[in-house]
Amino acid sequence: MDRNGIHHVTAIASSAVRNLDFYTRVLGLRLVKKTVNFDDPGTYHFYYGDETGSPGSILTFFPWEHAAPGRSGVGQAEETAFRVPQGAIGYWTHRFLAKGVAHEAPEKRFGETVLPFKDPDGMPLALVAATGAEGEPAWLESDVPVEHAIRGFHGVTLMLKDVGPTAAILANVLGFAEAGREGSRVRFKAGGTGLGGVLDIRAVGAFLPGRMGAGAVHHIAFRAADDAAQALMVRKLAENHGLRTTEQLDRNYFRSVYFREPGGVLFEIATDIPGFAVDEPAAILGQTLKLPSFLEPRRKEIEAVLPKVA
Ligand code: ZN
Repeated sequence: MDRNGIHHVTAIASSAVRNLDFYTRVLGLRLVKKTVNFDDPGTYHFYYGDETGSPGSILTFFPWEHAAPGRSGVGQAEETAFRVPQGAIGYWTHRFLAKGVAHEAPEKRFGETVLPFKDPDGMPLALVAATGAEGEPAWLESDVPVEHAIRGFHGVTLMLKDVGPTAAILANVLGFAEAGREGSRVRFKAGGTGLGGVLDIRAVGAFLPGRMGAGAVHHIAFRAADDAAQALMVRKLAENHGLRTTEQLDRNYFRSVYFREPGGVLFEIATDIPGFAVDEPAAILGQTLKLPSFLEPRRKEIEAVLPKVA
């Protein structure tokens, strides 16, 4: 069965130090890769995830120290949600209180308990108590007990003008099917995986557009098993939806094409292969700065401009 769903989510942060501290020490995720933005090598690219950086667990950031805050609005991701086991919400509520993390009261969506919170840049996040999450891998070397640890993404909510045009691409190209409606929220689910298997669209009509900046999602990447699966998706986008993607770009840990979906959000299709152990052993992922071979000759110059982080 094809494994579809979200591959990774990439967002903008301001302080690199604060971002690293929050995602590893507060949320207990593993830093699976410390590299740079290949298109802007004076900026870090941090990848957080489970032990191996499984597709569907990877949240990545470009930390721009002086980034202005983004603004939530139409044509953007409104919230990024992680999966935790049933019964973990009480633990996280206490942890957020103890660590001064901005959060709201838990709410119910589609019968699941959801705890909305924000990262230090104001990025809207949530924890969802999800059936089956307890059996999924997590990163065990944080101080979050395994029975409460984040497993990866539950899903992402998009705030769009309308549902239809984006829904057609989710269903026809990206392997999702409509799974329910609740209030203004239409839920789509991808088969074959719990991790990153949910995409919600909230259609809000004419409303203020979002603005890119710190705390905003830059793009959402969807899974393709390999190059052939990706090429098929690219062809469907062109033939059935009149949408052209970029040419394939080698991101070292996956290979990607990008396109702007009809609702205005930047989408990417990323291959599951080769993964994060391609340039360092799985046991020591994320500990040293990794550069793609075309940037390796500029390592000294790049290291000199990057902010110092632990
Ligand atoms: Zn990406």
